[in-house]
Amino acid sequence: MDVLIEEADIRRRVAEIGRRITGDYQGRKPHVVGVLKGAAIFHADLVRELKLPITADFLTVSSYGSSRKQVGPVRLAKDLDGAITGMDVILVEDVIDTGNTAALLLERLWERQPASLRLCALLSKRSCHQSTVEAHYVGFEISDSFVVGYGLDYNQMYRNLPYIGTI
Ligand code: IMP
Ligand code: MG
Repeated sequence: MDVLIEEADIRRRVAEIGRRITGDYQGRKPHVVGVLKGAAIFHADLVRELKLPITADFLTVSSYGSSRKQVGPVRLAKDLDGAITGMDVILVEDVIDTGNTAALLLERLWERQPASLRLCALLSKRSCHQSTVEAHYVGFEISDSFVVGYGLDYNQMYRNLPYIGTI
């Protein structure tokens, strides 16, 4: 395992994003939606950096294909518990690779008429984007290598690593 992003650097960056979101959402009550399972740890750390009244929810996406690359159609395996109509929604993702997952989720969530909808991704593999999806908040731009840790898995392993590494 090679360390790509140290634990301390993640903590610092998550705090920075938290401050930015806190500034951007003054007077509002964002609904922070995490994409399970990969974004669970990022979501948990990020919401604690938000000095705002927030609500939280989660959804689960599943794709058919190998665990290394998103292959085939993306499916909402577990939907949100509640409606988001009129809410200021922030979608929290672990990594934007092709961007297909985020694009589909944004499309599906916009249909429900939130007041606003922004995407916050811990990682973005800029060289690989197939769709035009843009995250409003990005933790780190990384190259096209497969990474694990801090929520991200390989065959469900390594999610508990406190840093982000490459195998
Ligand atoms: P996309 O639809 O290609 O953007 O794929 C996004 C999803 O693929 C992420 O939410 C992850 O679940 C998974 N994924 C993509 N790259 C990696 C990686 O480097 N490590 C672990 N999971 C990844
Ligand atoms: Mg994911």
